[in-house]
Amino acid sequence: MTHVNDRYARQRVLPEIGSKGQELLLNASTAVIGCGALGSVQAQLLARAGVGRIRIVDRDVLEENNLQRQVIFDEEDVAAGLPKAEAAARKLKKINSSIEIEGLVEDVTPRNIEGLIADMDLILDGTDNIETRYLINDACVKHTKPWIYGGVIGTTGMTMTVLPDEGPCIRCFFPETPPPGSLPTCDTAGVLNTAPATVASIQVTEALKLIIGVEAEDYTLLTLDLWTGSYRSVVVQKDKNCPCCGQGRFDFLGAEEVSWTTTLCGRNSVQISPSRVTVLSLDDLSRRLSQAGKVSYNGLLLQFQINDHELIIFPNGRTIVKGTTDESVAKTLYSKYLGN
Ligand SMILES: [Zn+2]
Repeated sequence: MTHVNDRYARQRVLPEIGSKGQELLLNASTAVIGCGALGSVQAQLLARAGVGRIRIVDRDVLEENNLQRQVIFDEEDVAAGLPKAEAAARKLKKINSSIEIEGLVEDVTPRNIEGLIADMDLILDGTDNIETRYLINDACVKHTKPWIYGGVIGTTGMTMTVLPDEGPCIRCFFPETPPPGSLPTCDTAGVLNTAPATVASIQVTEALKLIIGVEAEDYTLLTLDLWTGSYRSVVVQKDKNCPCCGQGRFDFLGAEEVSWTTTLCGRNSVQISPSRVTVLSLDDLSRRLSQAGKVSYNGLLLQFQINDHELIIFPNGRTIVKGTTDESVAKTLYSKYLGN
């Protein structure tokens, strides 16, 4: 008999979940890739539902304009200059201290994606860019892991569950990535905060169903517009000529090492990732850099203000240069203050 004070009592009495389903949730593991608007809702709902192990991966640092839609964060997190993965992990531990929570401040690349998903039962897409989604798709099809795509722009959103070996993958209907700049981004089109909250809720519902073992009847791409209230579900077929799940080509996983600089879409920032593995002493660096400009170091990352630019430096040397989209300007600042 379920005890009313059990924290999962409302799920145990729900016929769709029940005590058996709850045990499956407690024994399950889920990776949340990207902890922005989608990821913060996903991570929070998974933790509250009692999914036993949650890994959050995000490369970014919080900014005030995130608070409009990234519901797991607050003003104190922004003031502390925390990386999103760390701030989210701290919050989740307060929400549910009985599950295992891991926050990884990392960029998802062809080099690390397989390791990030290897020990997880399923993967939730909380990213904001196409490249990373194709990378998740490649890795998940290769390792036969379910993943749940989600995307949001303006007042609209999309979601689809990918079950490798059973249903279609994302390349079955979007075989190639669109050329850069051809799609609107959240920064150019804006975003209504209820759109990611809704899409993420649907993704988590599908995740809970997968964990509990509810079989999909068909494979659908759901598109919705929160503002007009239209919801459309299109059945998607597996394409046997799909480059990924049909022919077994993992183009994104096998891509040449991503260039060491990346313009962060619409963010007026460039990210620089050192090609070799490094461990910086941010203590030493903060002493050195304080001769040149304003430095703040919170134990996790270092922020360095120099004229109109700000460098956010992580312990592994990855650096976000804010205040420019010009990769050469960013590289120059990087080599000037961090060396090469
Ligand atoms: Zn496919």
